[in-house]
Amino acid sequence: MKIQLYNTKTRTKETFEPLDPSHVKMYVCGPTVYDRAHLGNARPVLVFDMLNRLLRHSYPKVTYVRNFTDVDDRINETALNRKQAGAAGTLEELIAERSNETIGWYHADMDALGAMRPDAEPRATGYIAEMIAFIEALIADGHAYAAEGHALFAVESYAEYGKLSGRSVEDMIAGARVEVAPYKRNPMDFVLWKPSDDDLPGWDSPWGRGRPGWHIECSAMAHALLGKSFDIHGGGNDLMFPHHENEIAQSRCAGHDFAQVWMHNEMLQVEGKKMSKSLGNFFTVRDLLEQGVPGEVIRLVMLSTHYRKPMDWTEKKRAEAEKTLRKWYDIAGDVEAGPLDPRFLEAISDDLNTAGALTIMHELAAQNAGPELRTAMQFFGVMSESVPEWVTDAQADLSAFEALLGAARATAMETKDFAEVDRLKSALIAAGVEVRMSKAGVDLVAGPDFDAAKLEGLG
Ligand code: AMP
Ligand code: ZN
Repeated sequence: MKIQLYNTKTRTKETFEPLDPSHVKMYVCGPTVYDRAHLGNARPVLVFDMLNRLLRHSYPKVTYVRNFTDVDDRINETALNRKQAGAAGTLEELIAERSNETIGWYHADMDALGAMRPDAEPRATGYIAEMIAFIEALIADGHAYAAEGHALFAVESYAEYGKLSGRSVEDMIAGARVEVAPYKRNPMDFVLWKPSDDDLPGWDSPWGRGRPGWHIECSAMAHALLGKSFDIHGGGNDLMFPHHENEIAQSRCAGHDFAQVWMHNEMLQVEGKKMSKSLGNFFTVRDLLEQGVPGEVIRLVMLSTHYRKPMDWTEKKRAEAEKTLRKWYDIAGDVEAGPLDPRFLEAISDDLNTAGALTIMHELAAQNAGPELRTAMQFFGVMSESVPEWVTDAQADLSAFEALLGAARATAMETKDFAEVDRLKSALIAAGVEVRMSKAGVDLVAGPDFDAAKLEGLG
């Protein structure tokens, strides 16, 4: 099956033709590890996890690289605050501790969302020598220059600068918060290397003790791990400019062909609004998990919107996804996996049409096609090996109430007094249970607002 991907570079959906079909290579910009990942950060993780799964299904070998940016003022600031508060260890140790701690959280949170770990997760601090060599080569070829302890990329030396995001240099100067500095030849020139204060992490370089700029990190790590050219480069569309534009400029000027296909996910919002601390609607993946929202539910909601559309996280969607998964586990939780529905694969192969794939899964569920549904759910990353506790607990609770309600009904048929049946029924409904009573028996299904705690003491 042919894979179609929308390429930001050409602004068209193209048939994916890997450079080497025996080994597909993908790089995705990873997080800056200064704090817990917020829900928006999970979007690129899940989108590119679906792409990784599709590529692995379609090609014999895939190398997926996603970096950790662990050179950052916010990491330094946390470490400095800890030191000032009396924490033991040198500043460098405290910085490393903060990065390690954050990477551990990131892994735990993204694992909980069913995201496969990339094949390589390089840390910027592990590739400083490669970055310095990269910058030296750019300077030698006249694409960069040193000034006052900095190394800067000369945007005028790259004629196609701005092509990815479709901006002219004038637009960029007007729109971006470019830092005008006396040592810059052109205000758009961006930092490859900058000096570090004595109390900040720094590495010796031909331009003095300092640290790399953010953009050069990705160019150097992609080169070190994937080579001069590779297939796919991804990230959120907030990174298109300046980050990806700068990565392209550096790498192309270093003589690298770099990425063939550029893919960008749209942003996540919450209840129709931008997620921000000031609006009080900012939350982390961990916050949701701790509230008891299962990882598969978060994943299903996040992938229910196509990645190139803004995605709105709502409480309603959360509840719906939970209901859907309960139903699907009921149908496919205990069966052997069956064949992969070609319509499902076709949807995913069509520029990751995850919403279309969900429609197929709903159809399979409606037809009670358990084995096919199980396989589709596995591909989608929402099927645990065994039925998860959040599903079985509710089911176990409910089967006891099914028996209770069934017995109460049998008694009521004889006594013609339905008070007990009505009492049980309304209590179950109040706890978010769908009550289906027929001649065949009593069927109780946990609805989207099911709350097991409300059933305590009933019966
Ligand atoms: P950062 O750690 O800020 O560099 O972000 C890590 C990744 O999360 C990048 O790919 C960003 O594009 C992405 N990202 C950040 N905020 C959002 C959001 N609200 N919605 C979707 N993706 C986001
Ligand atoms: Zn990057």
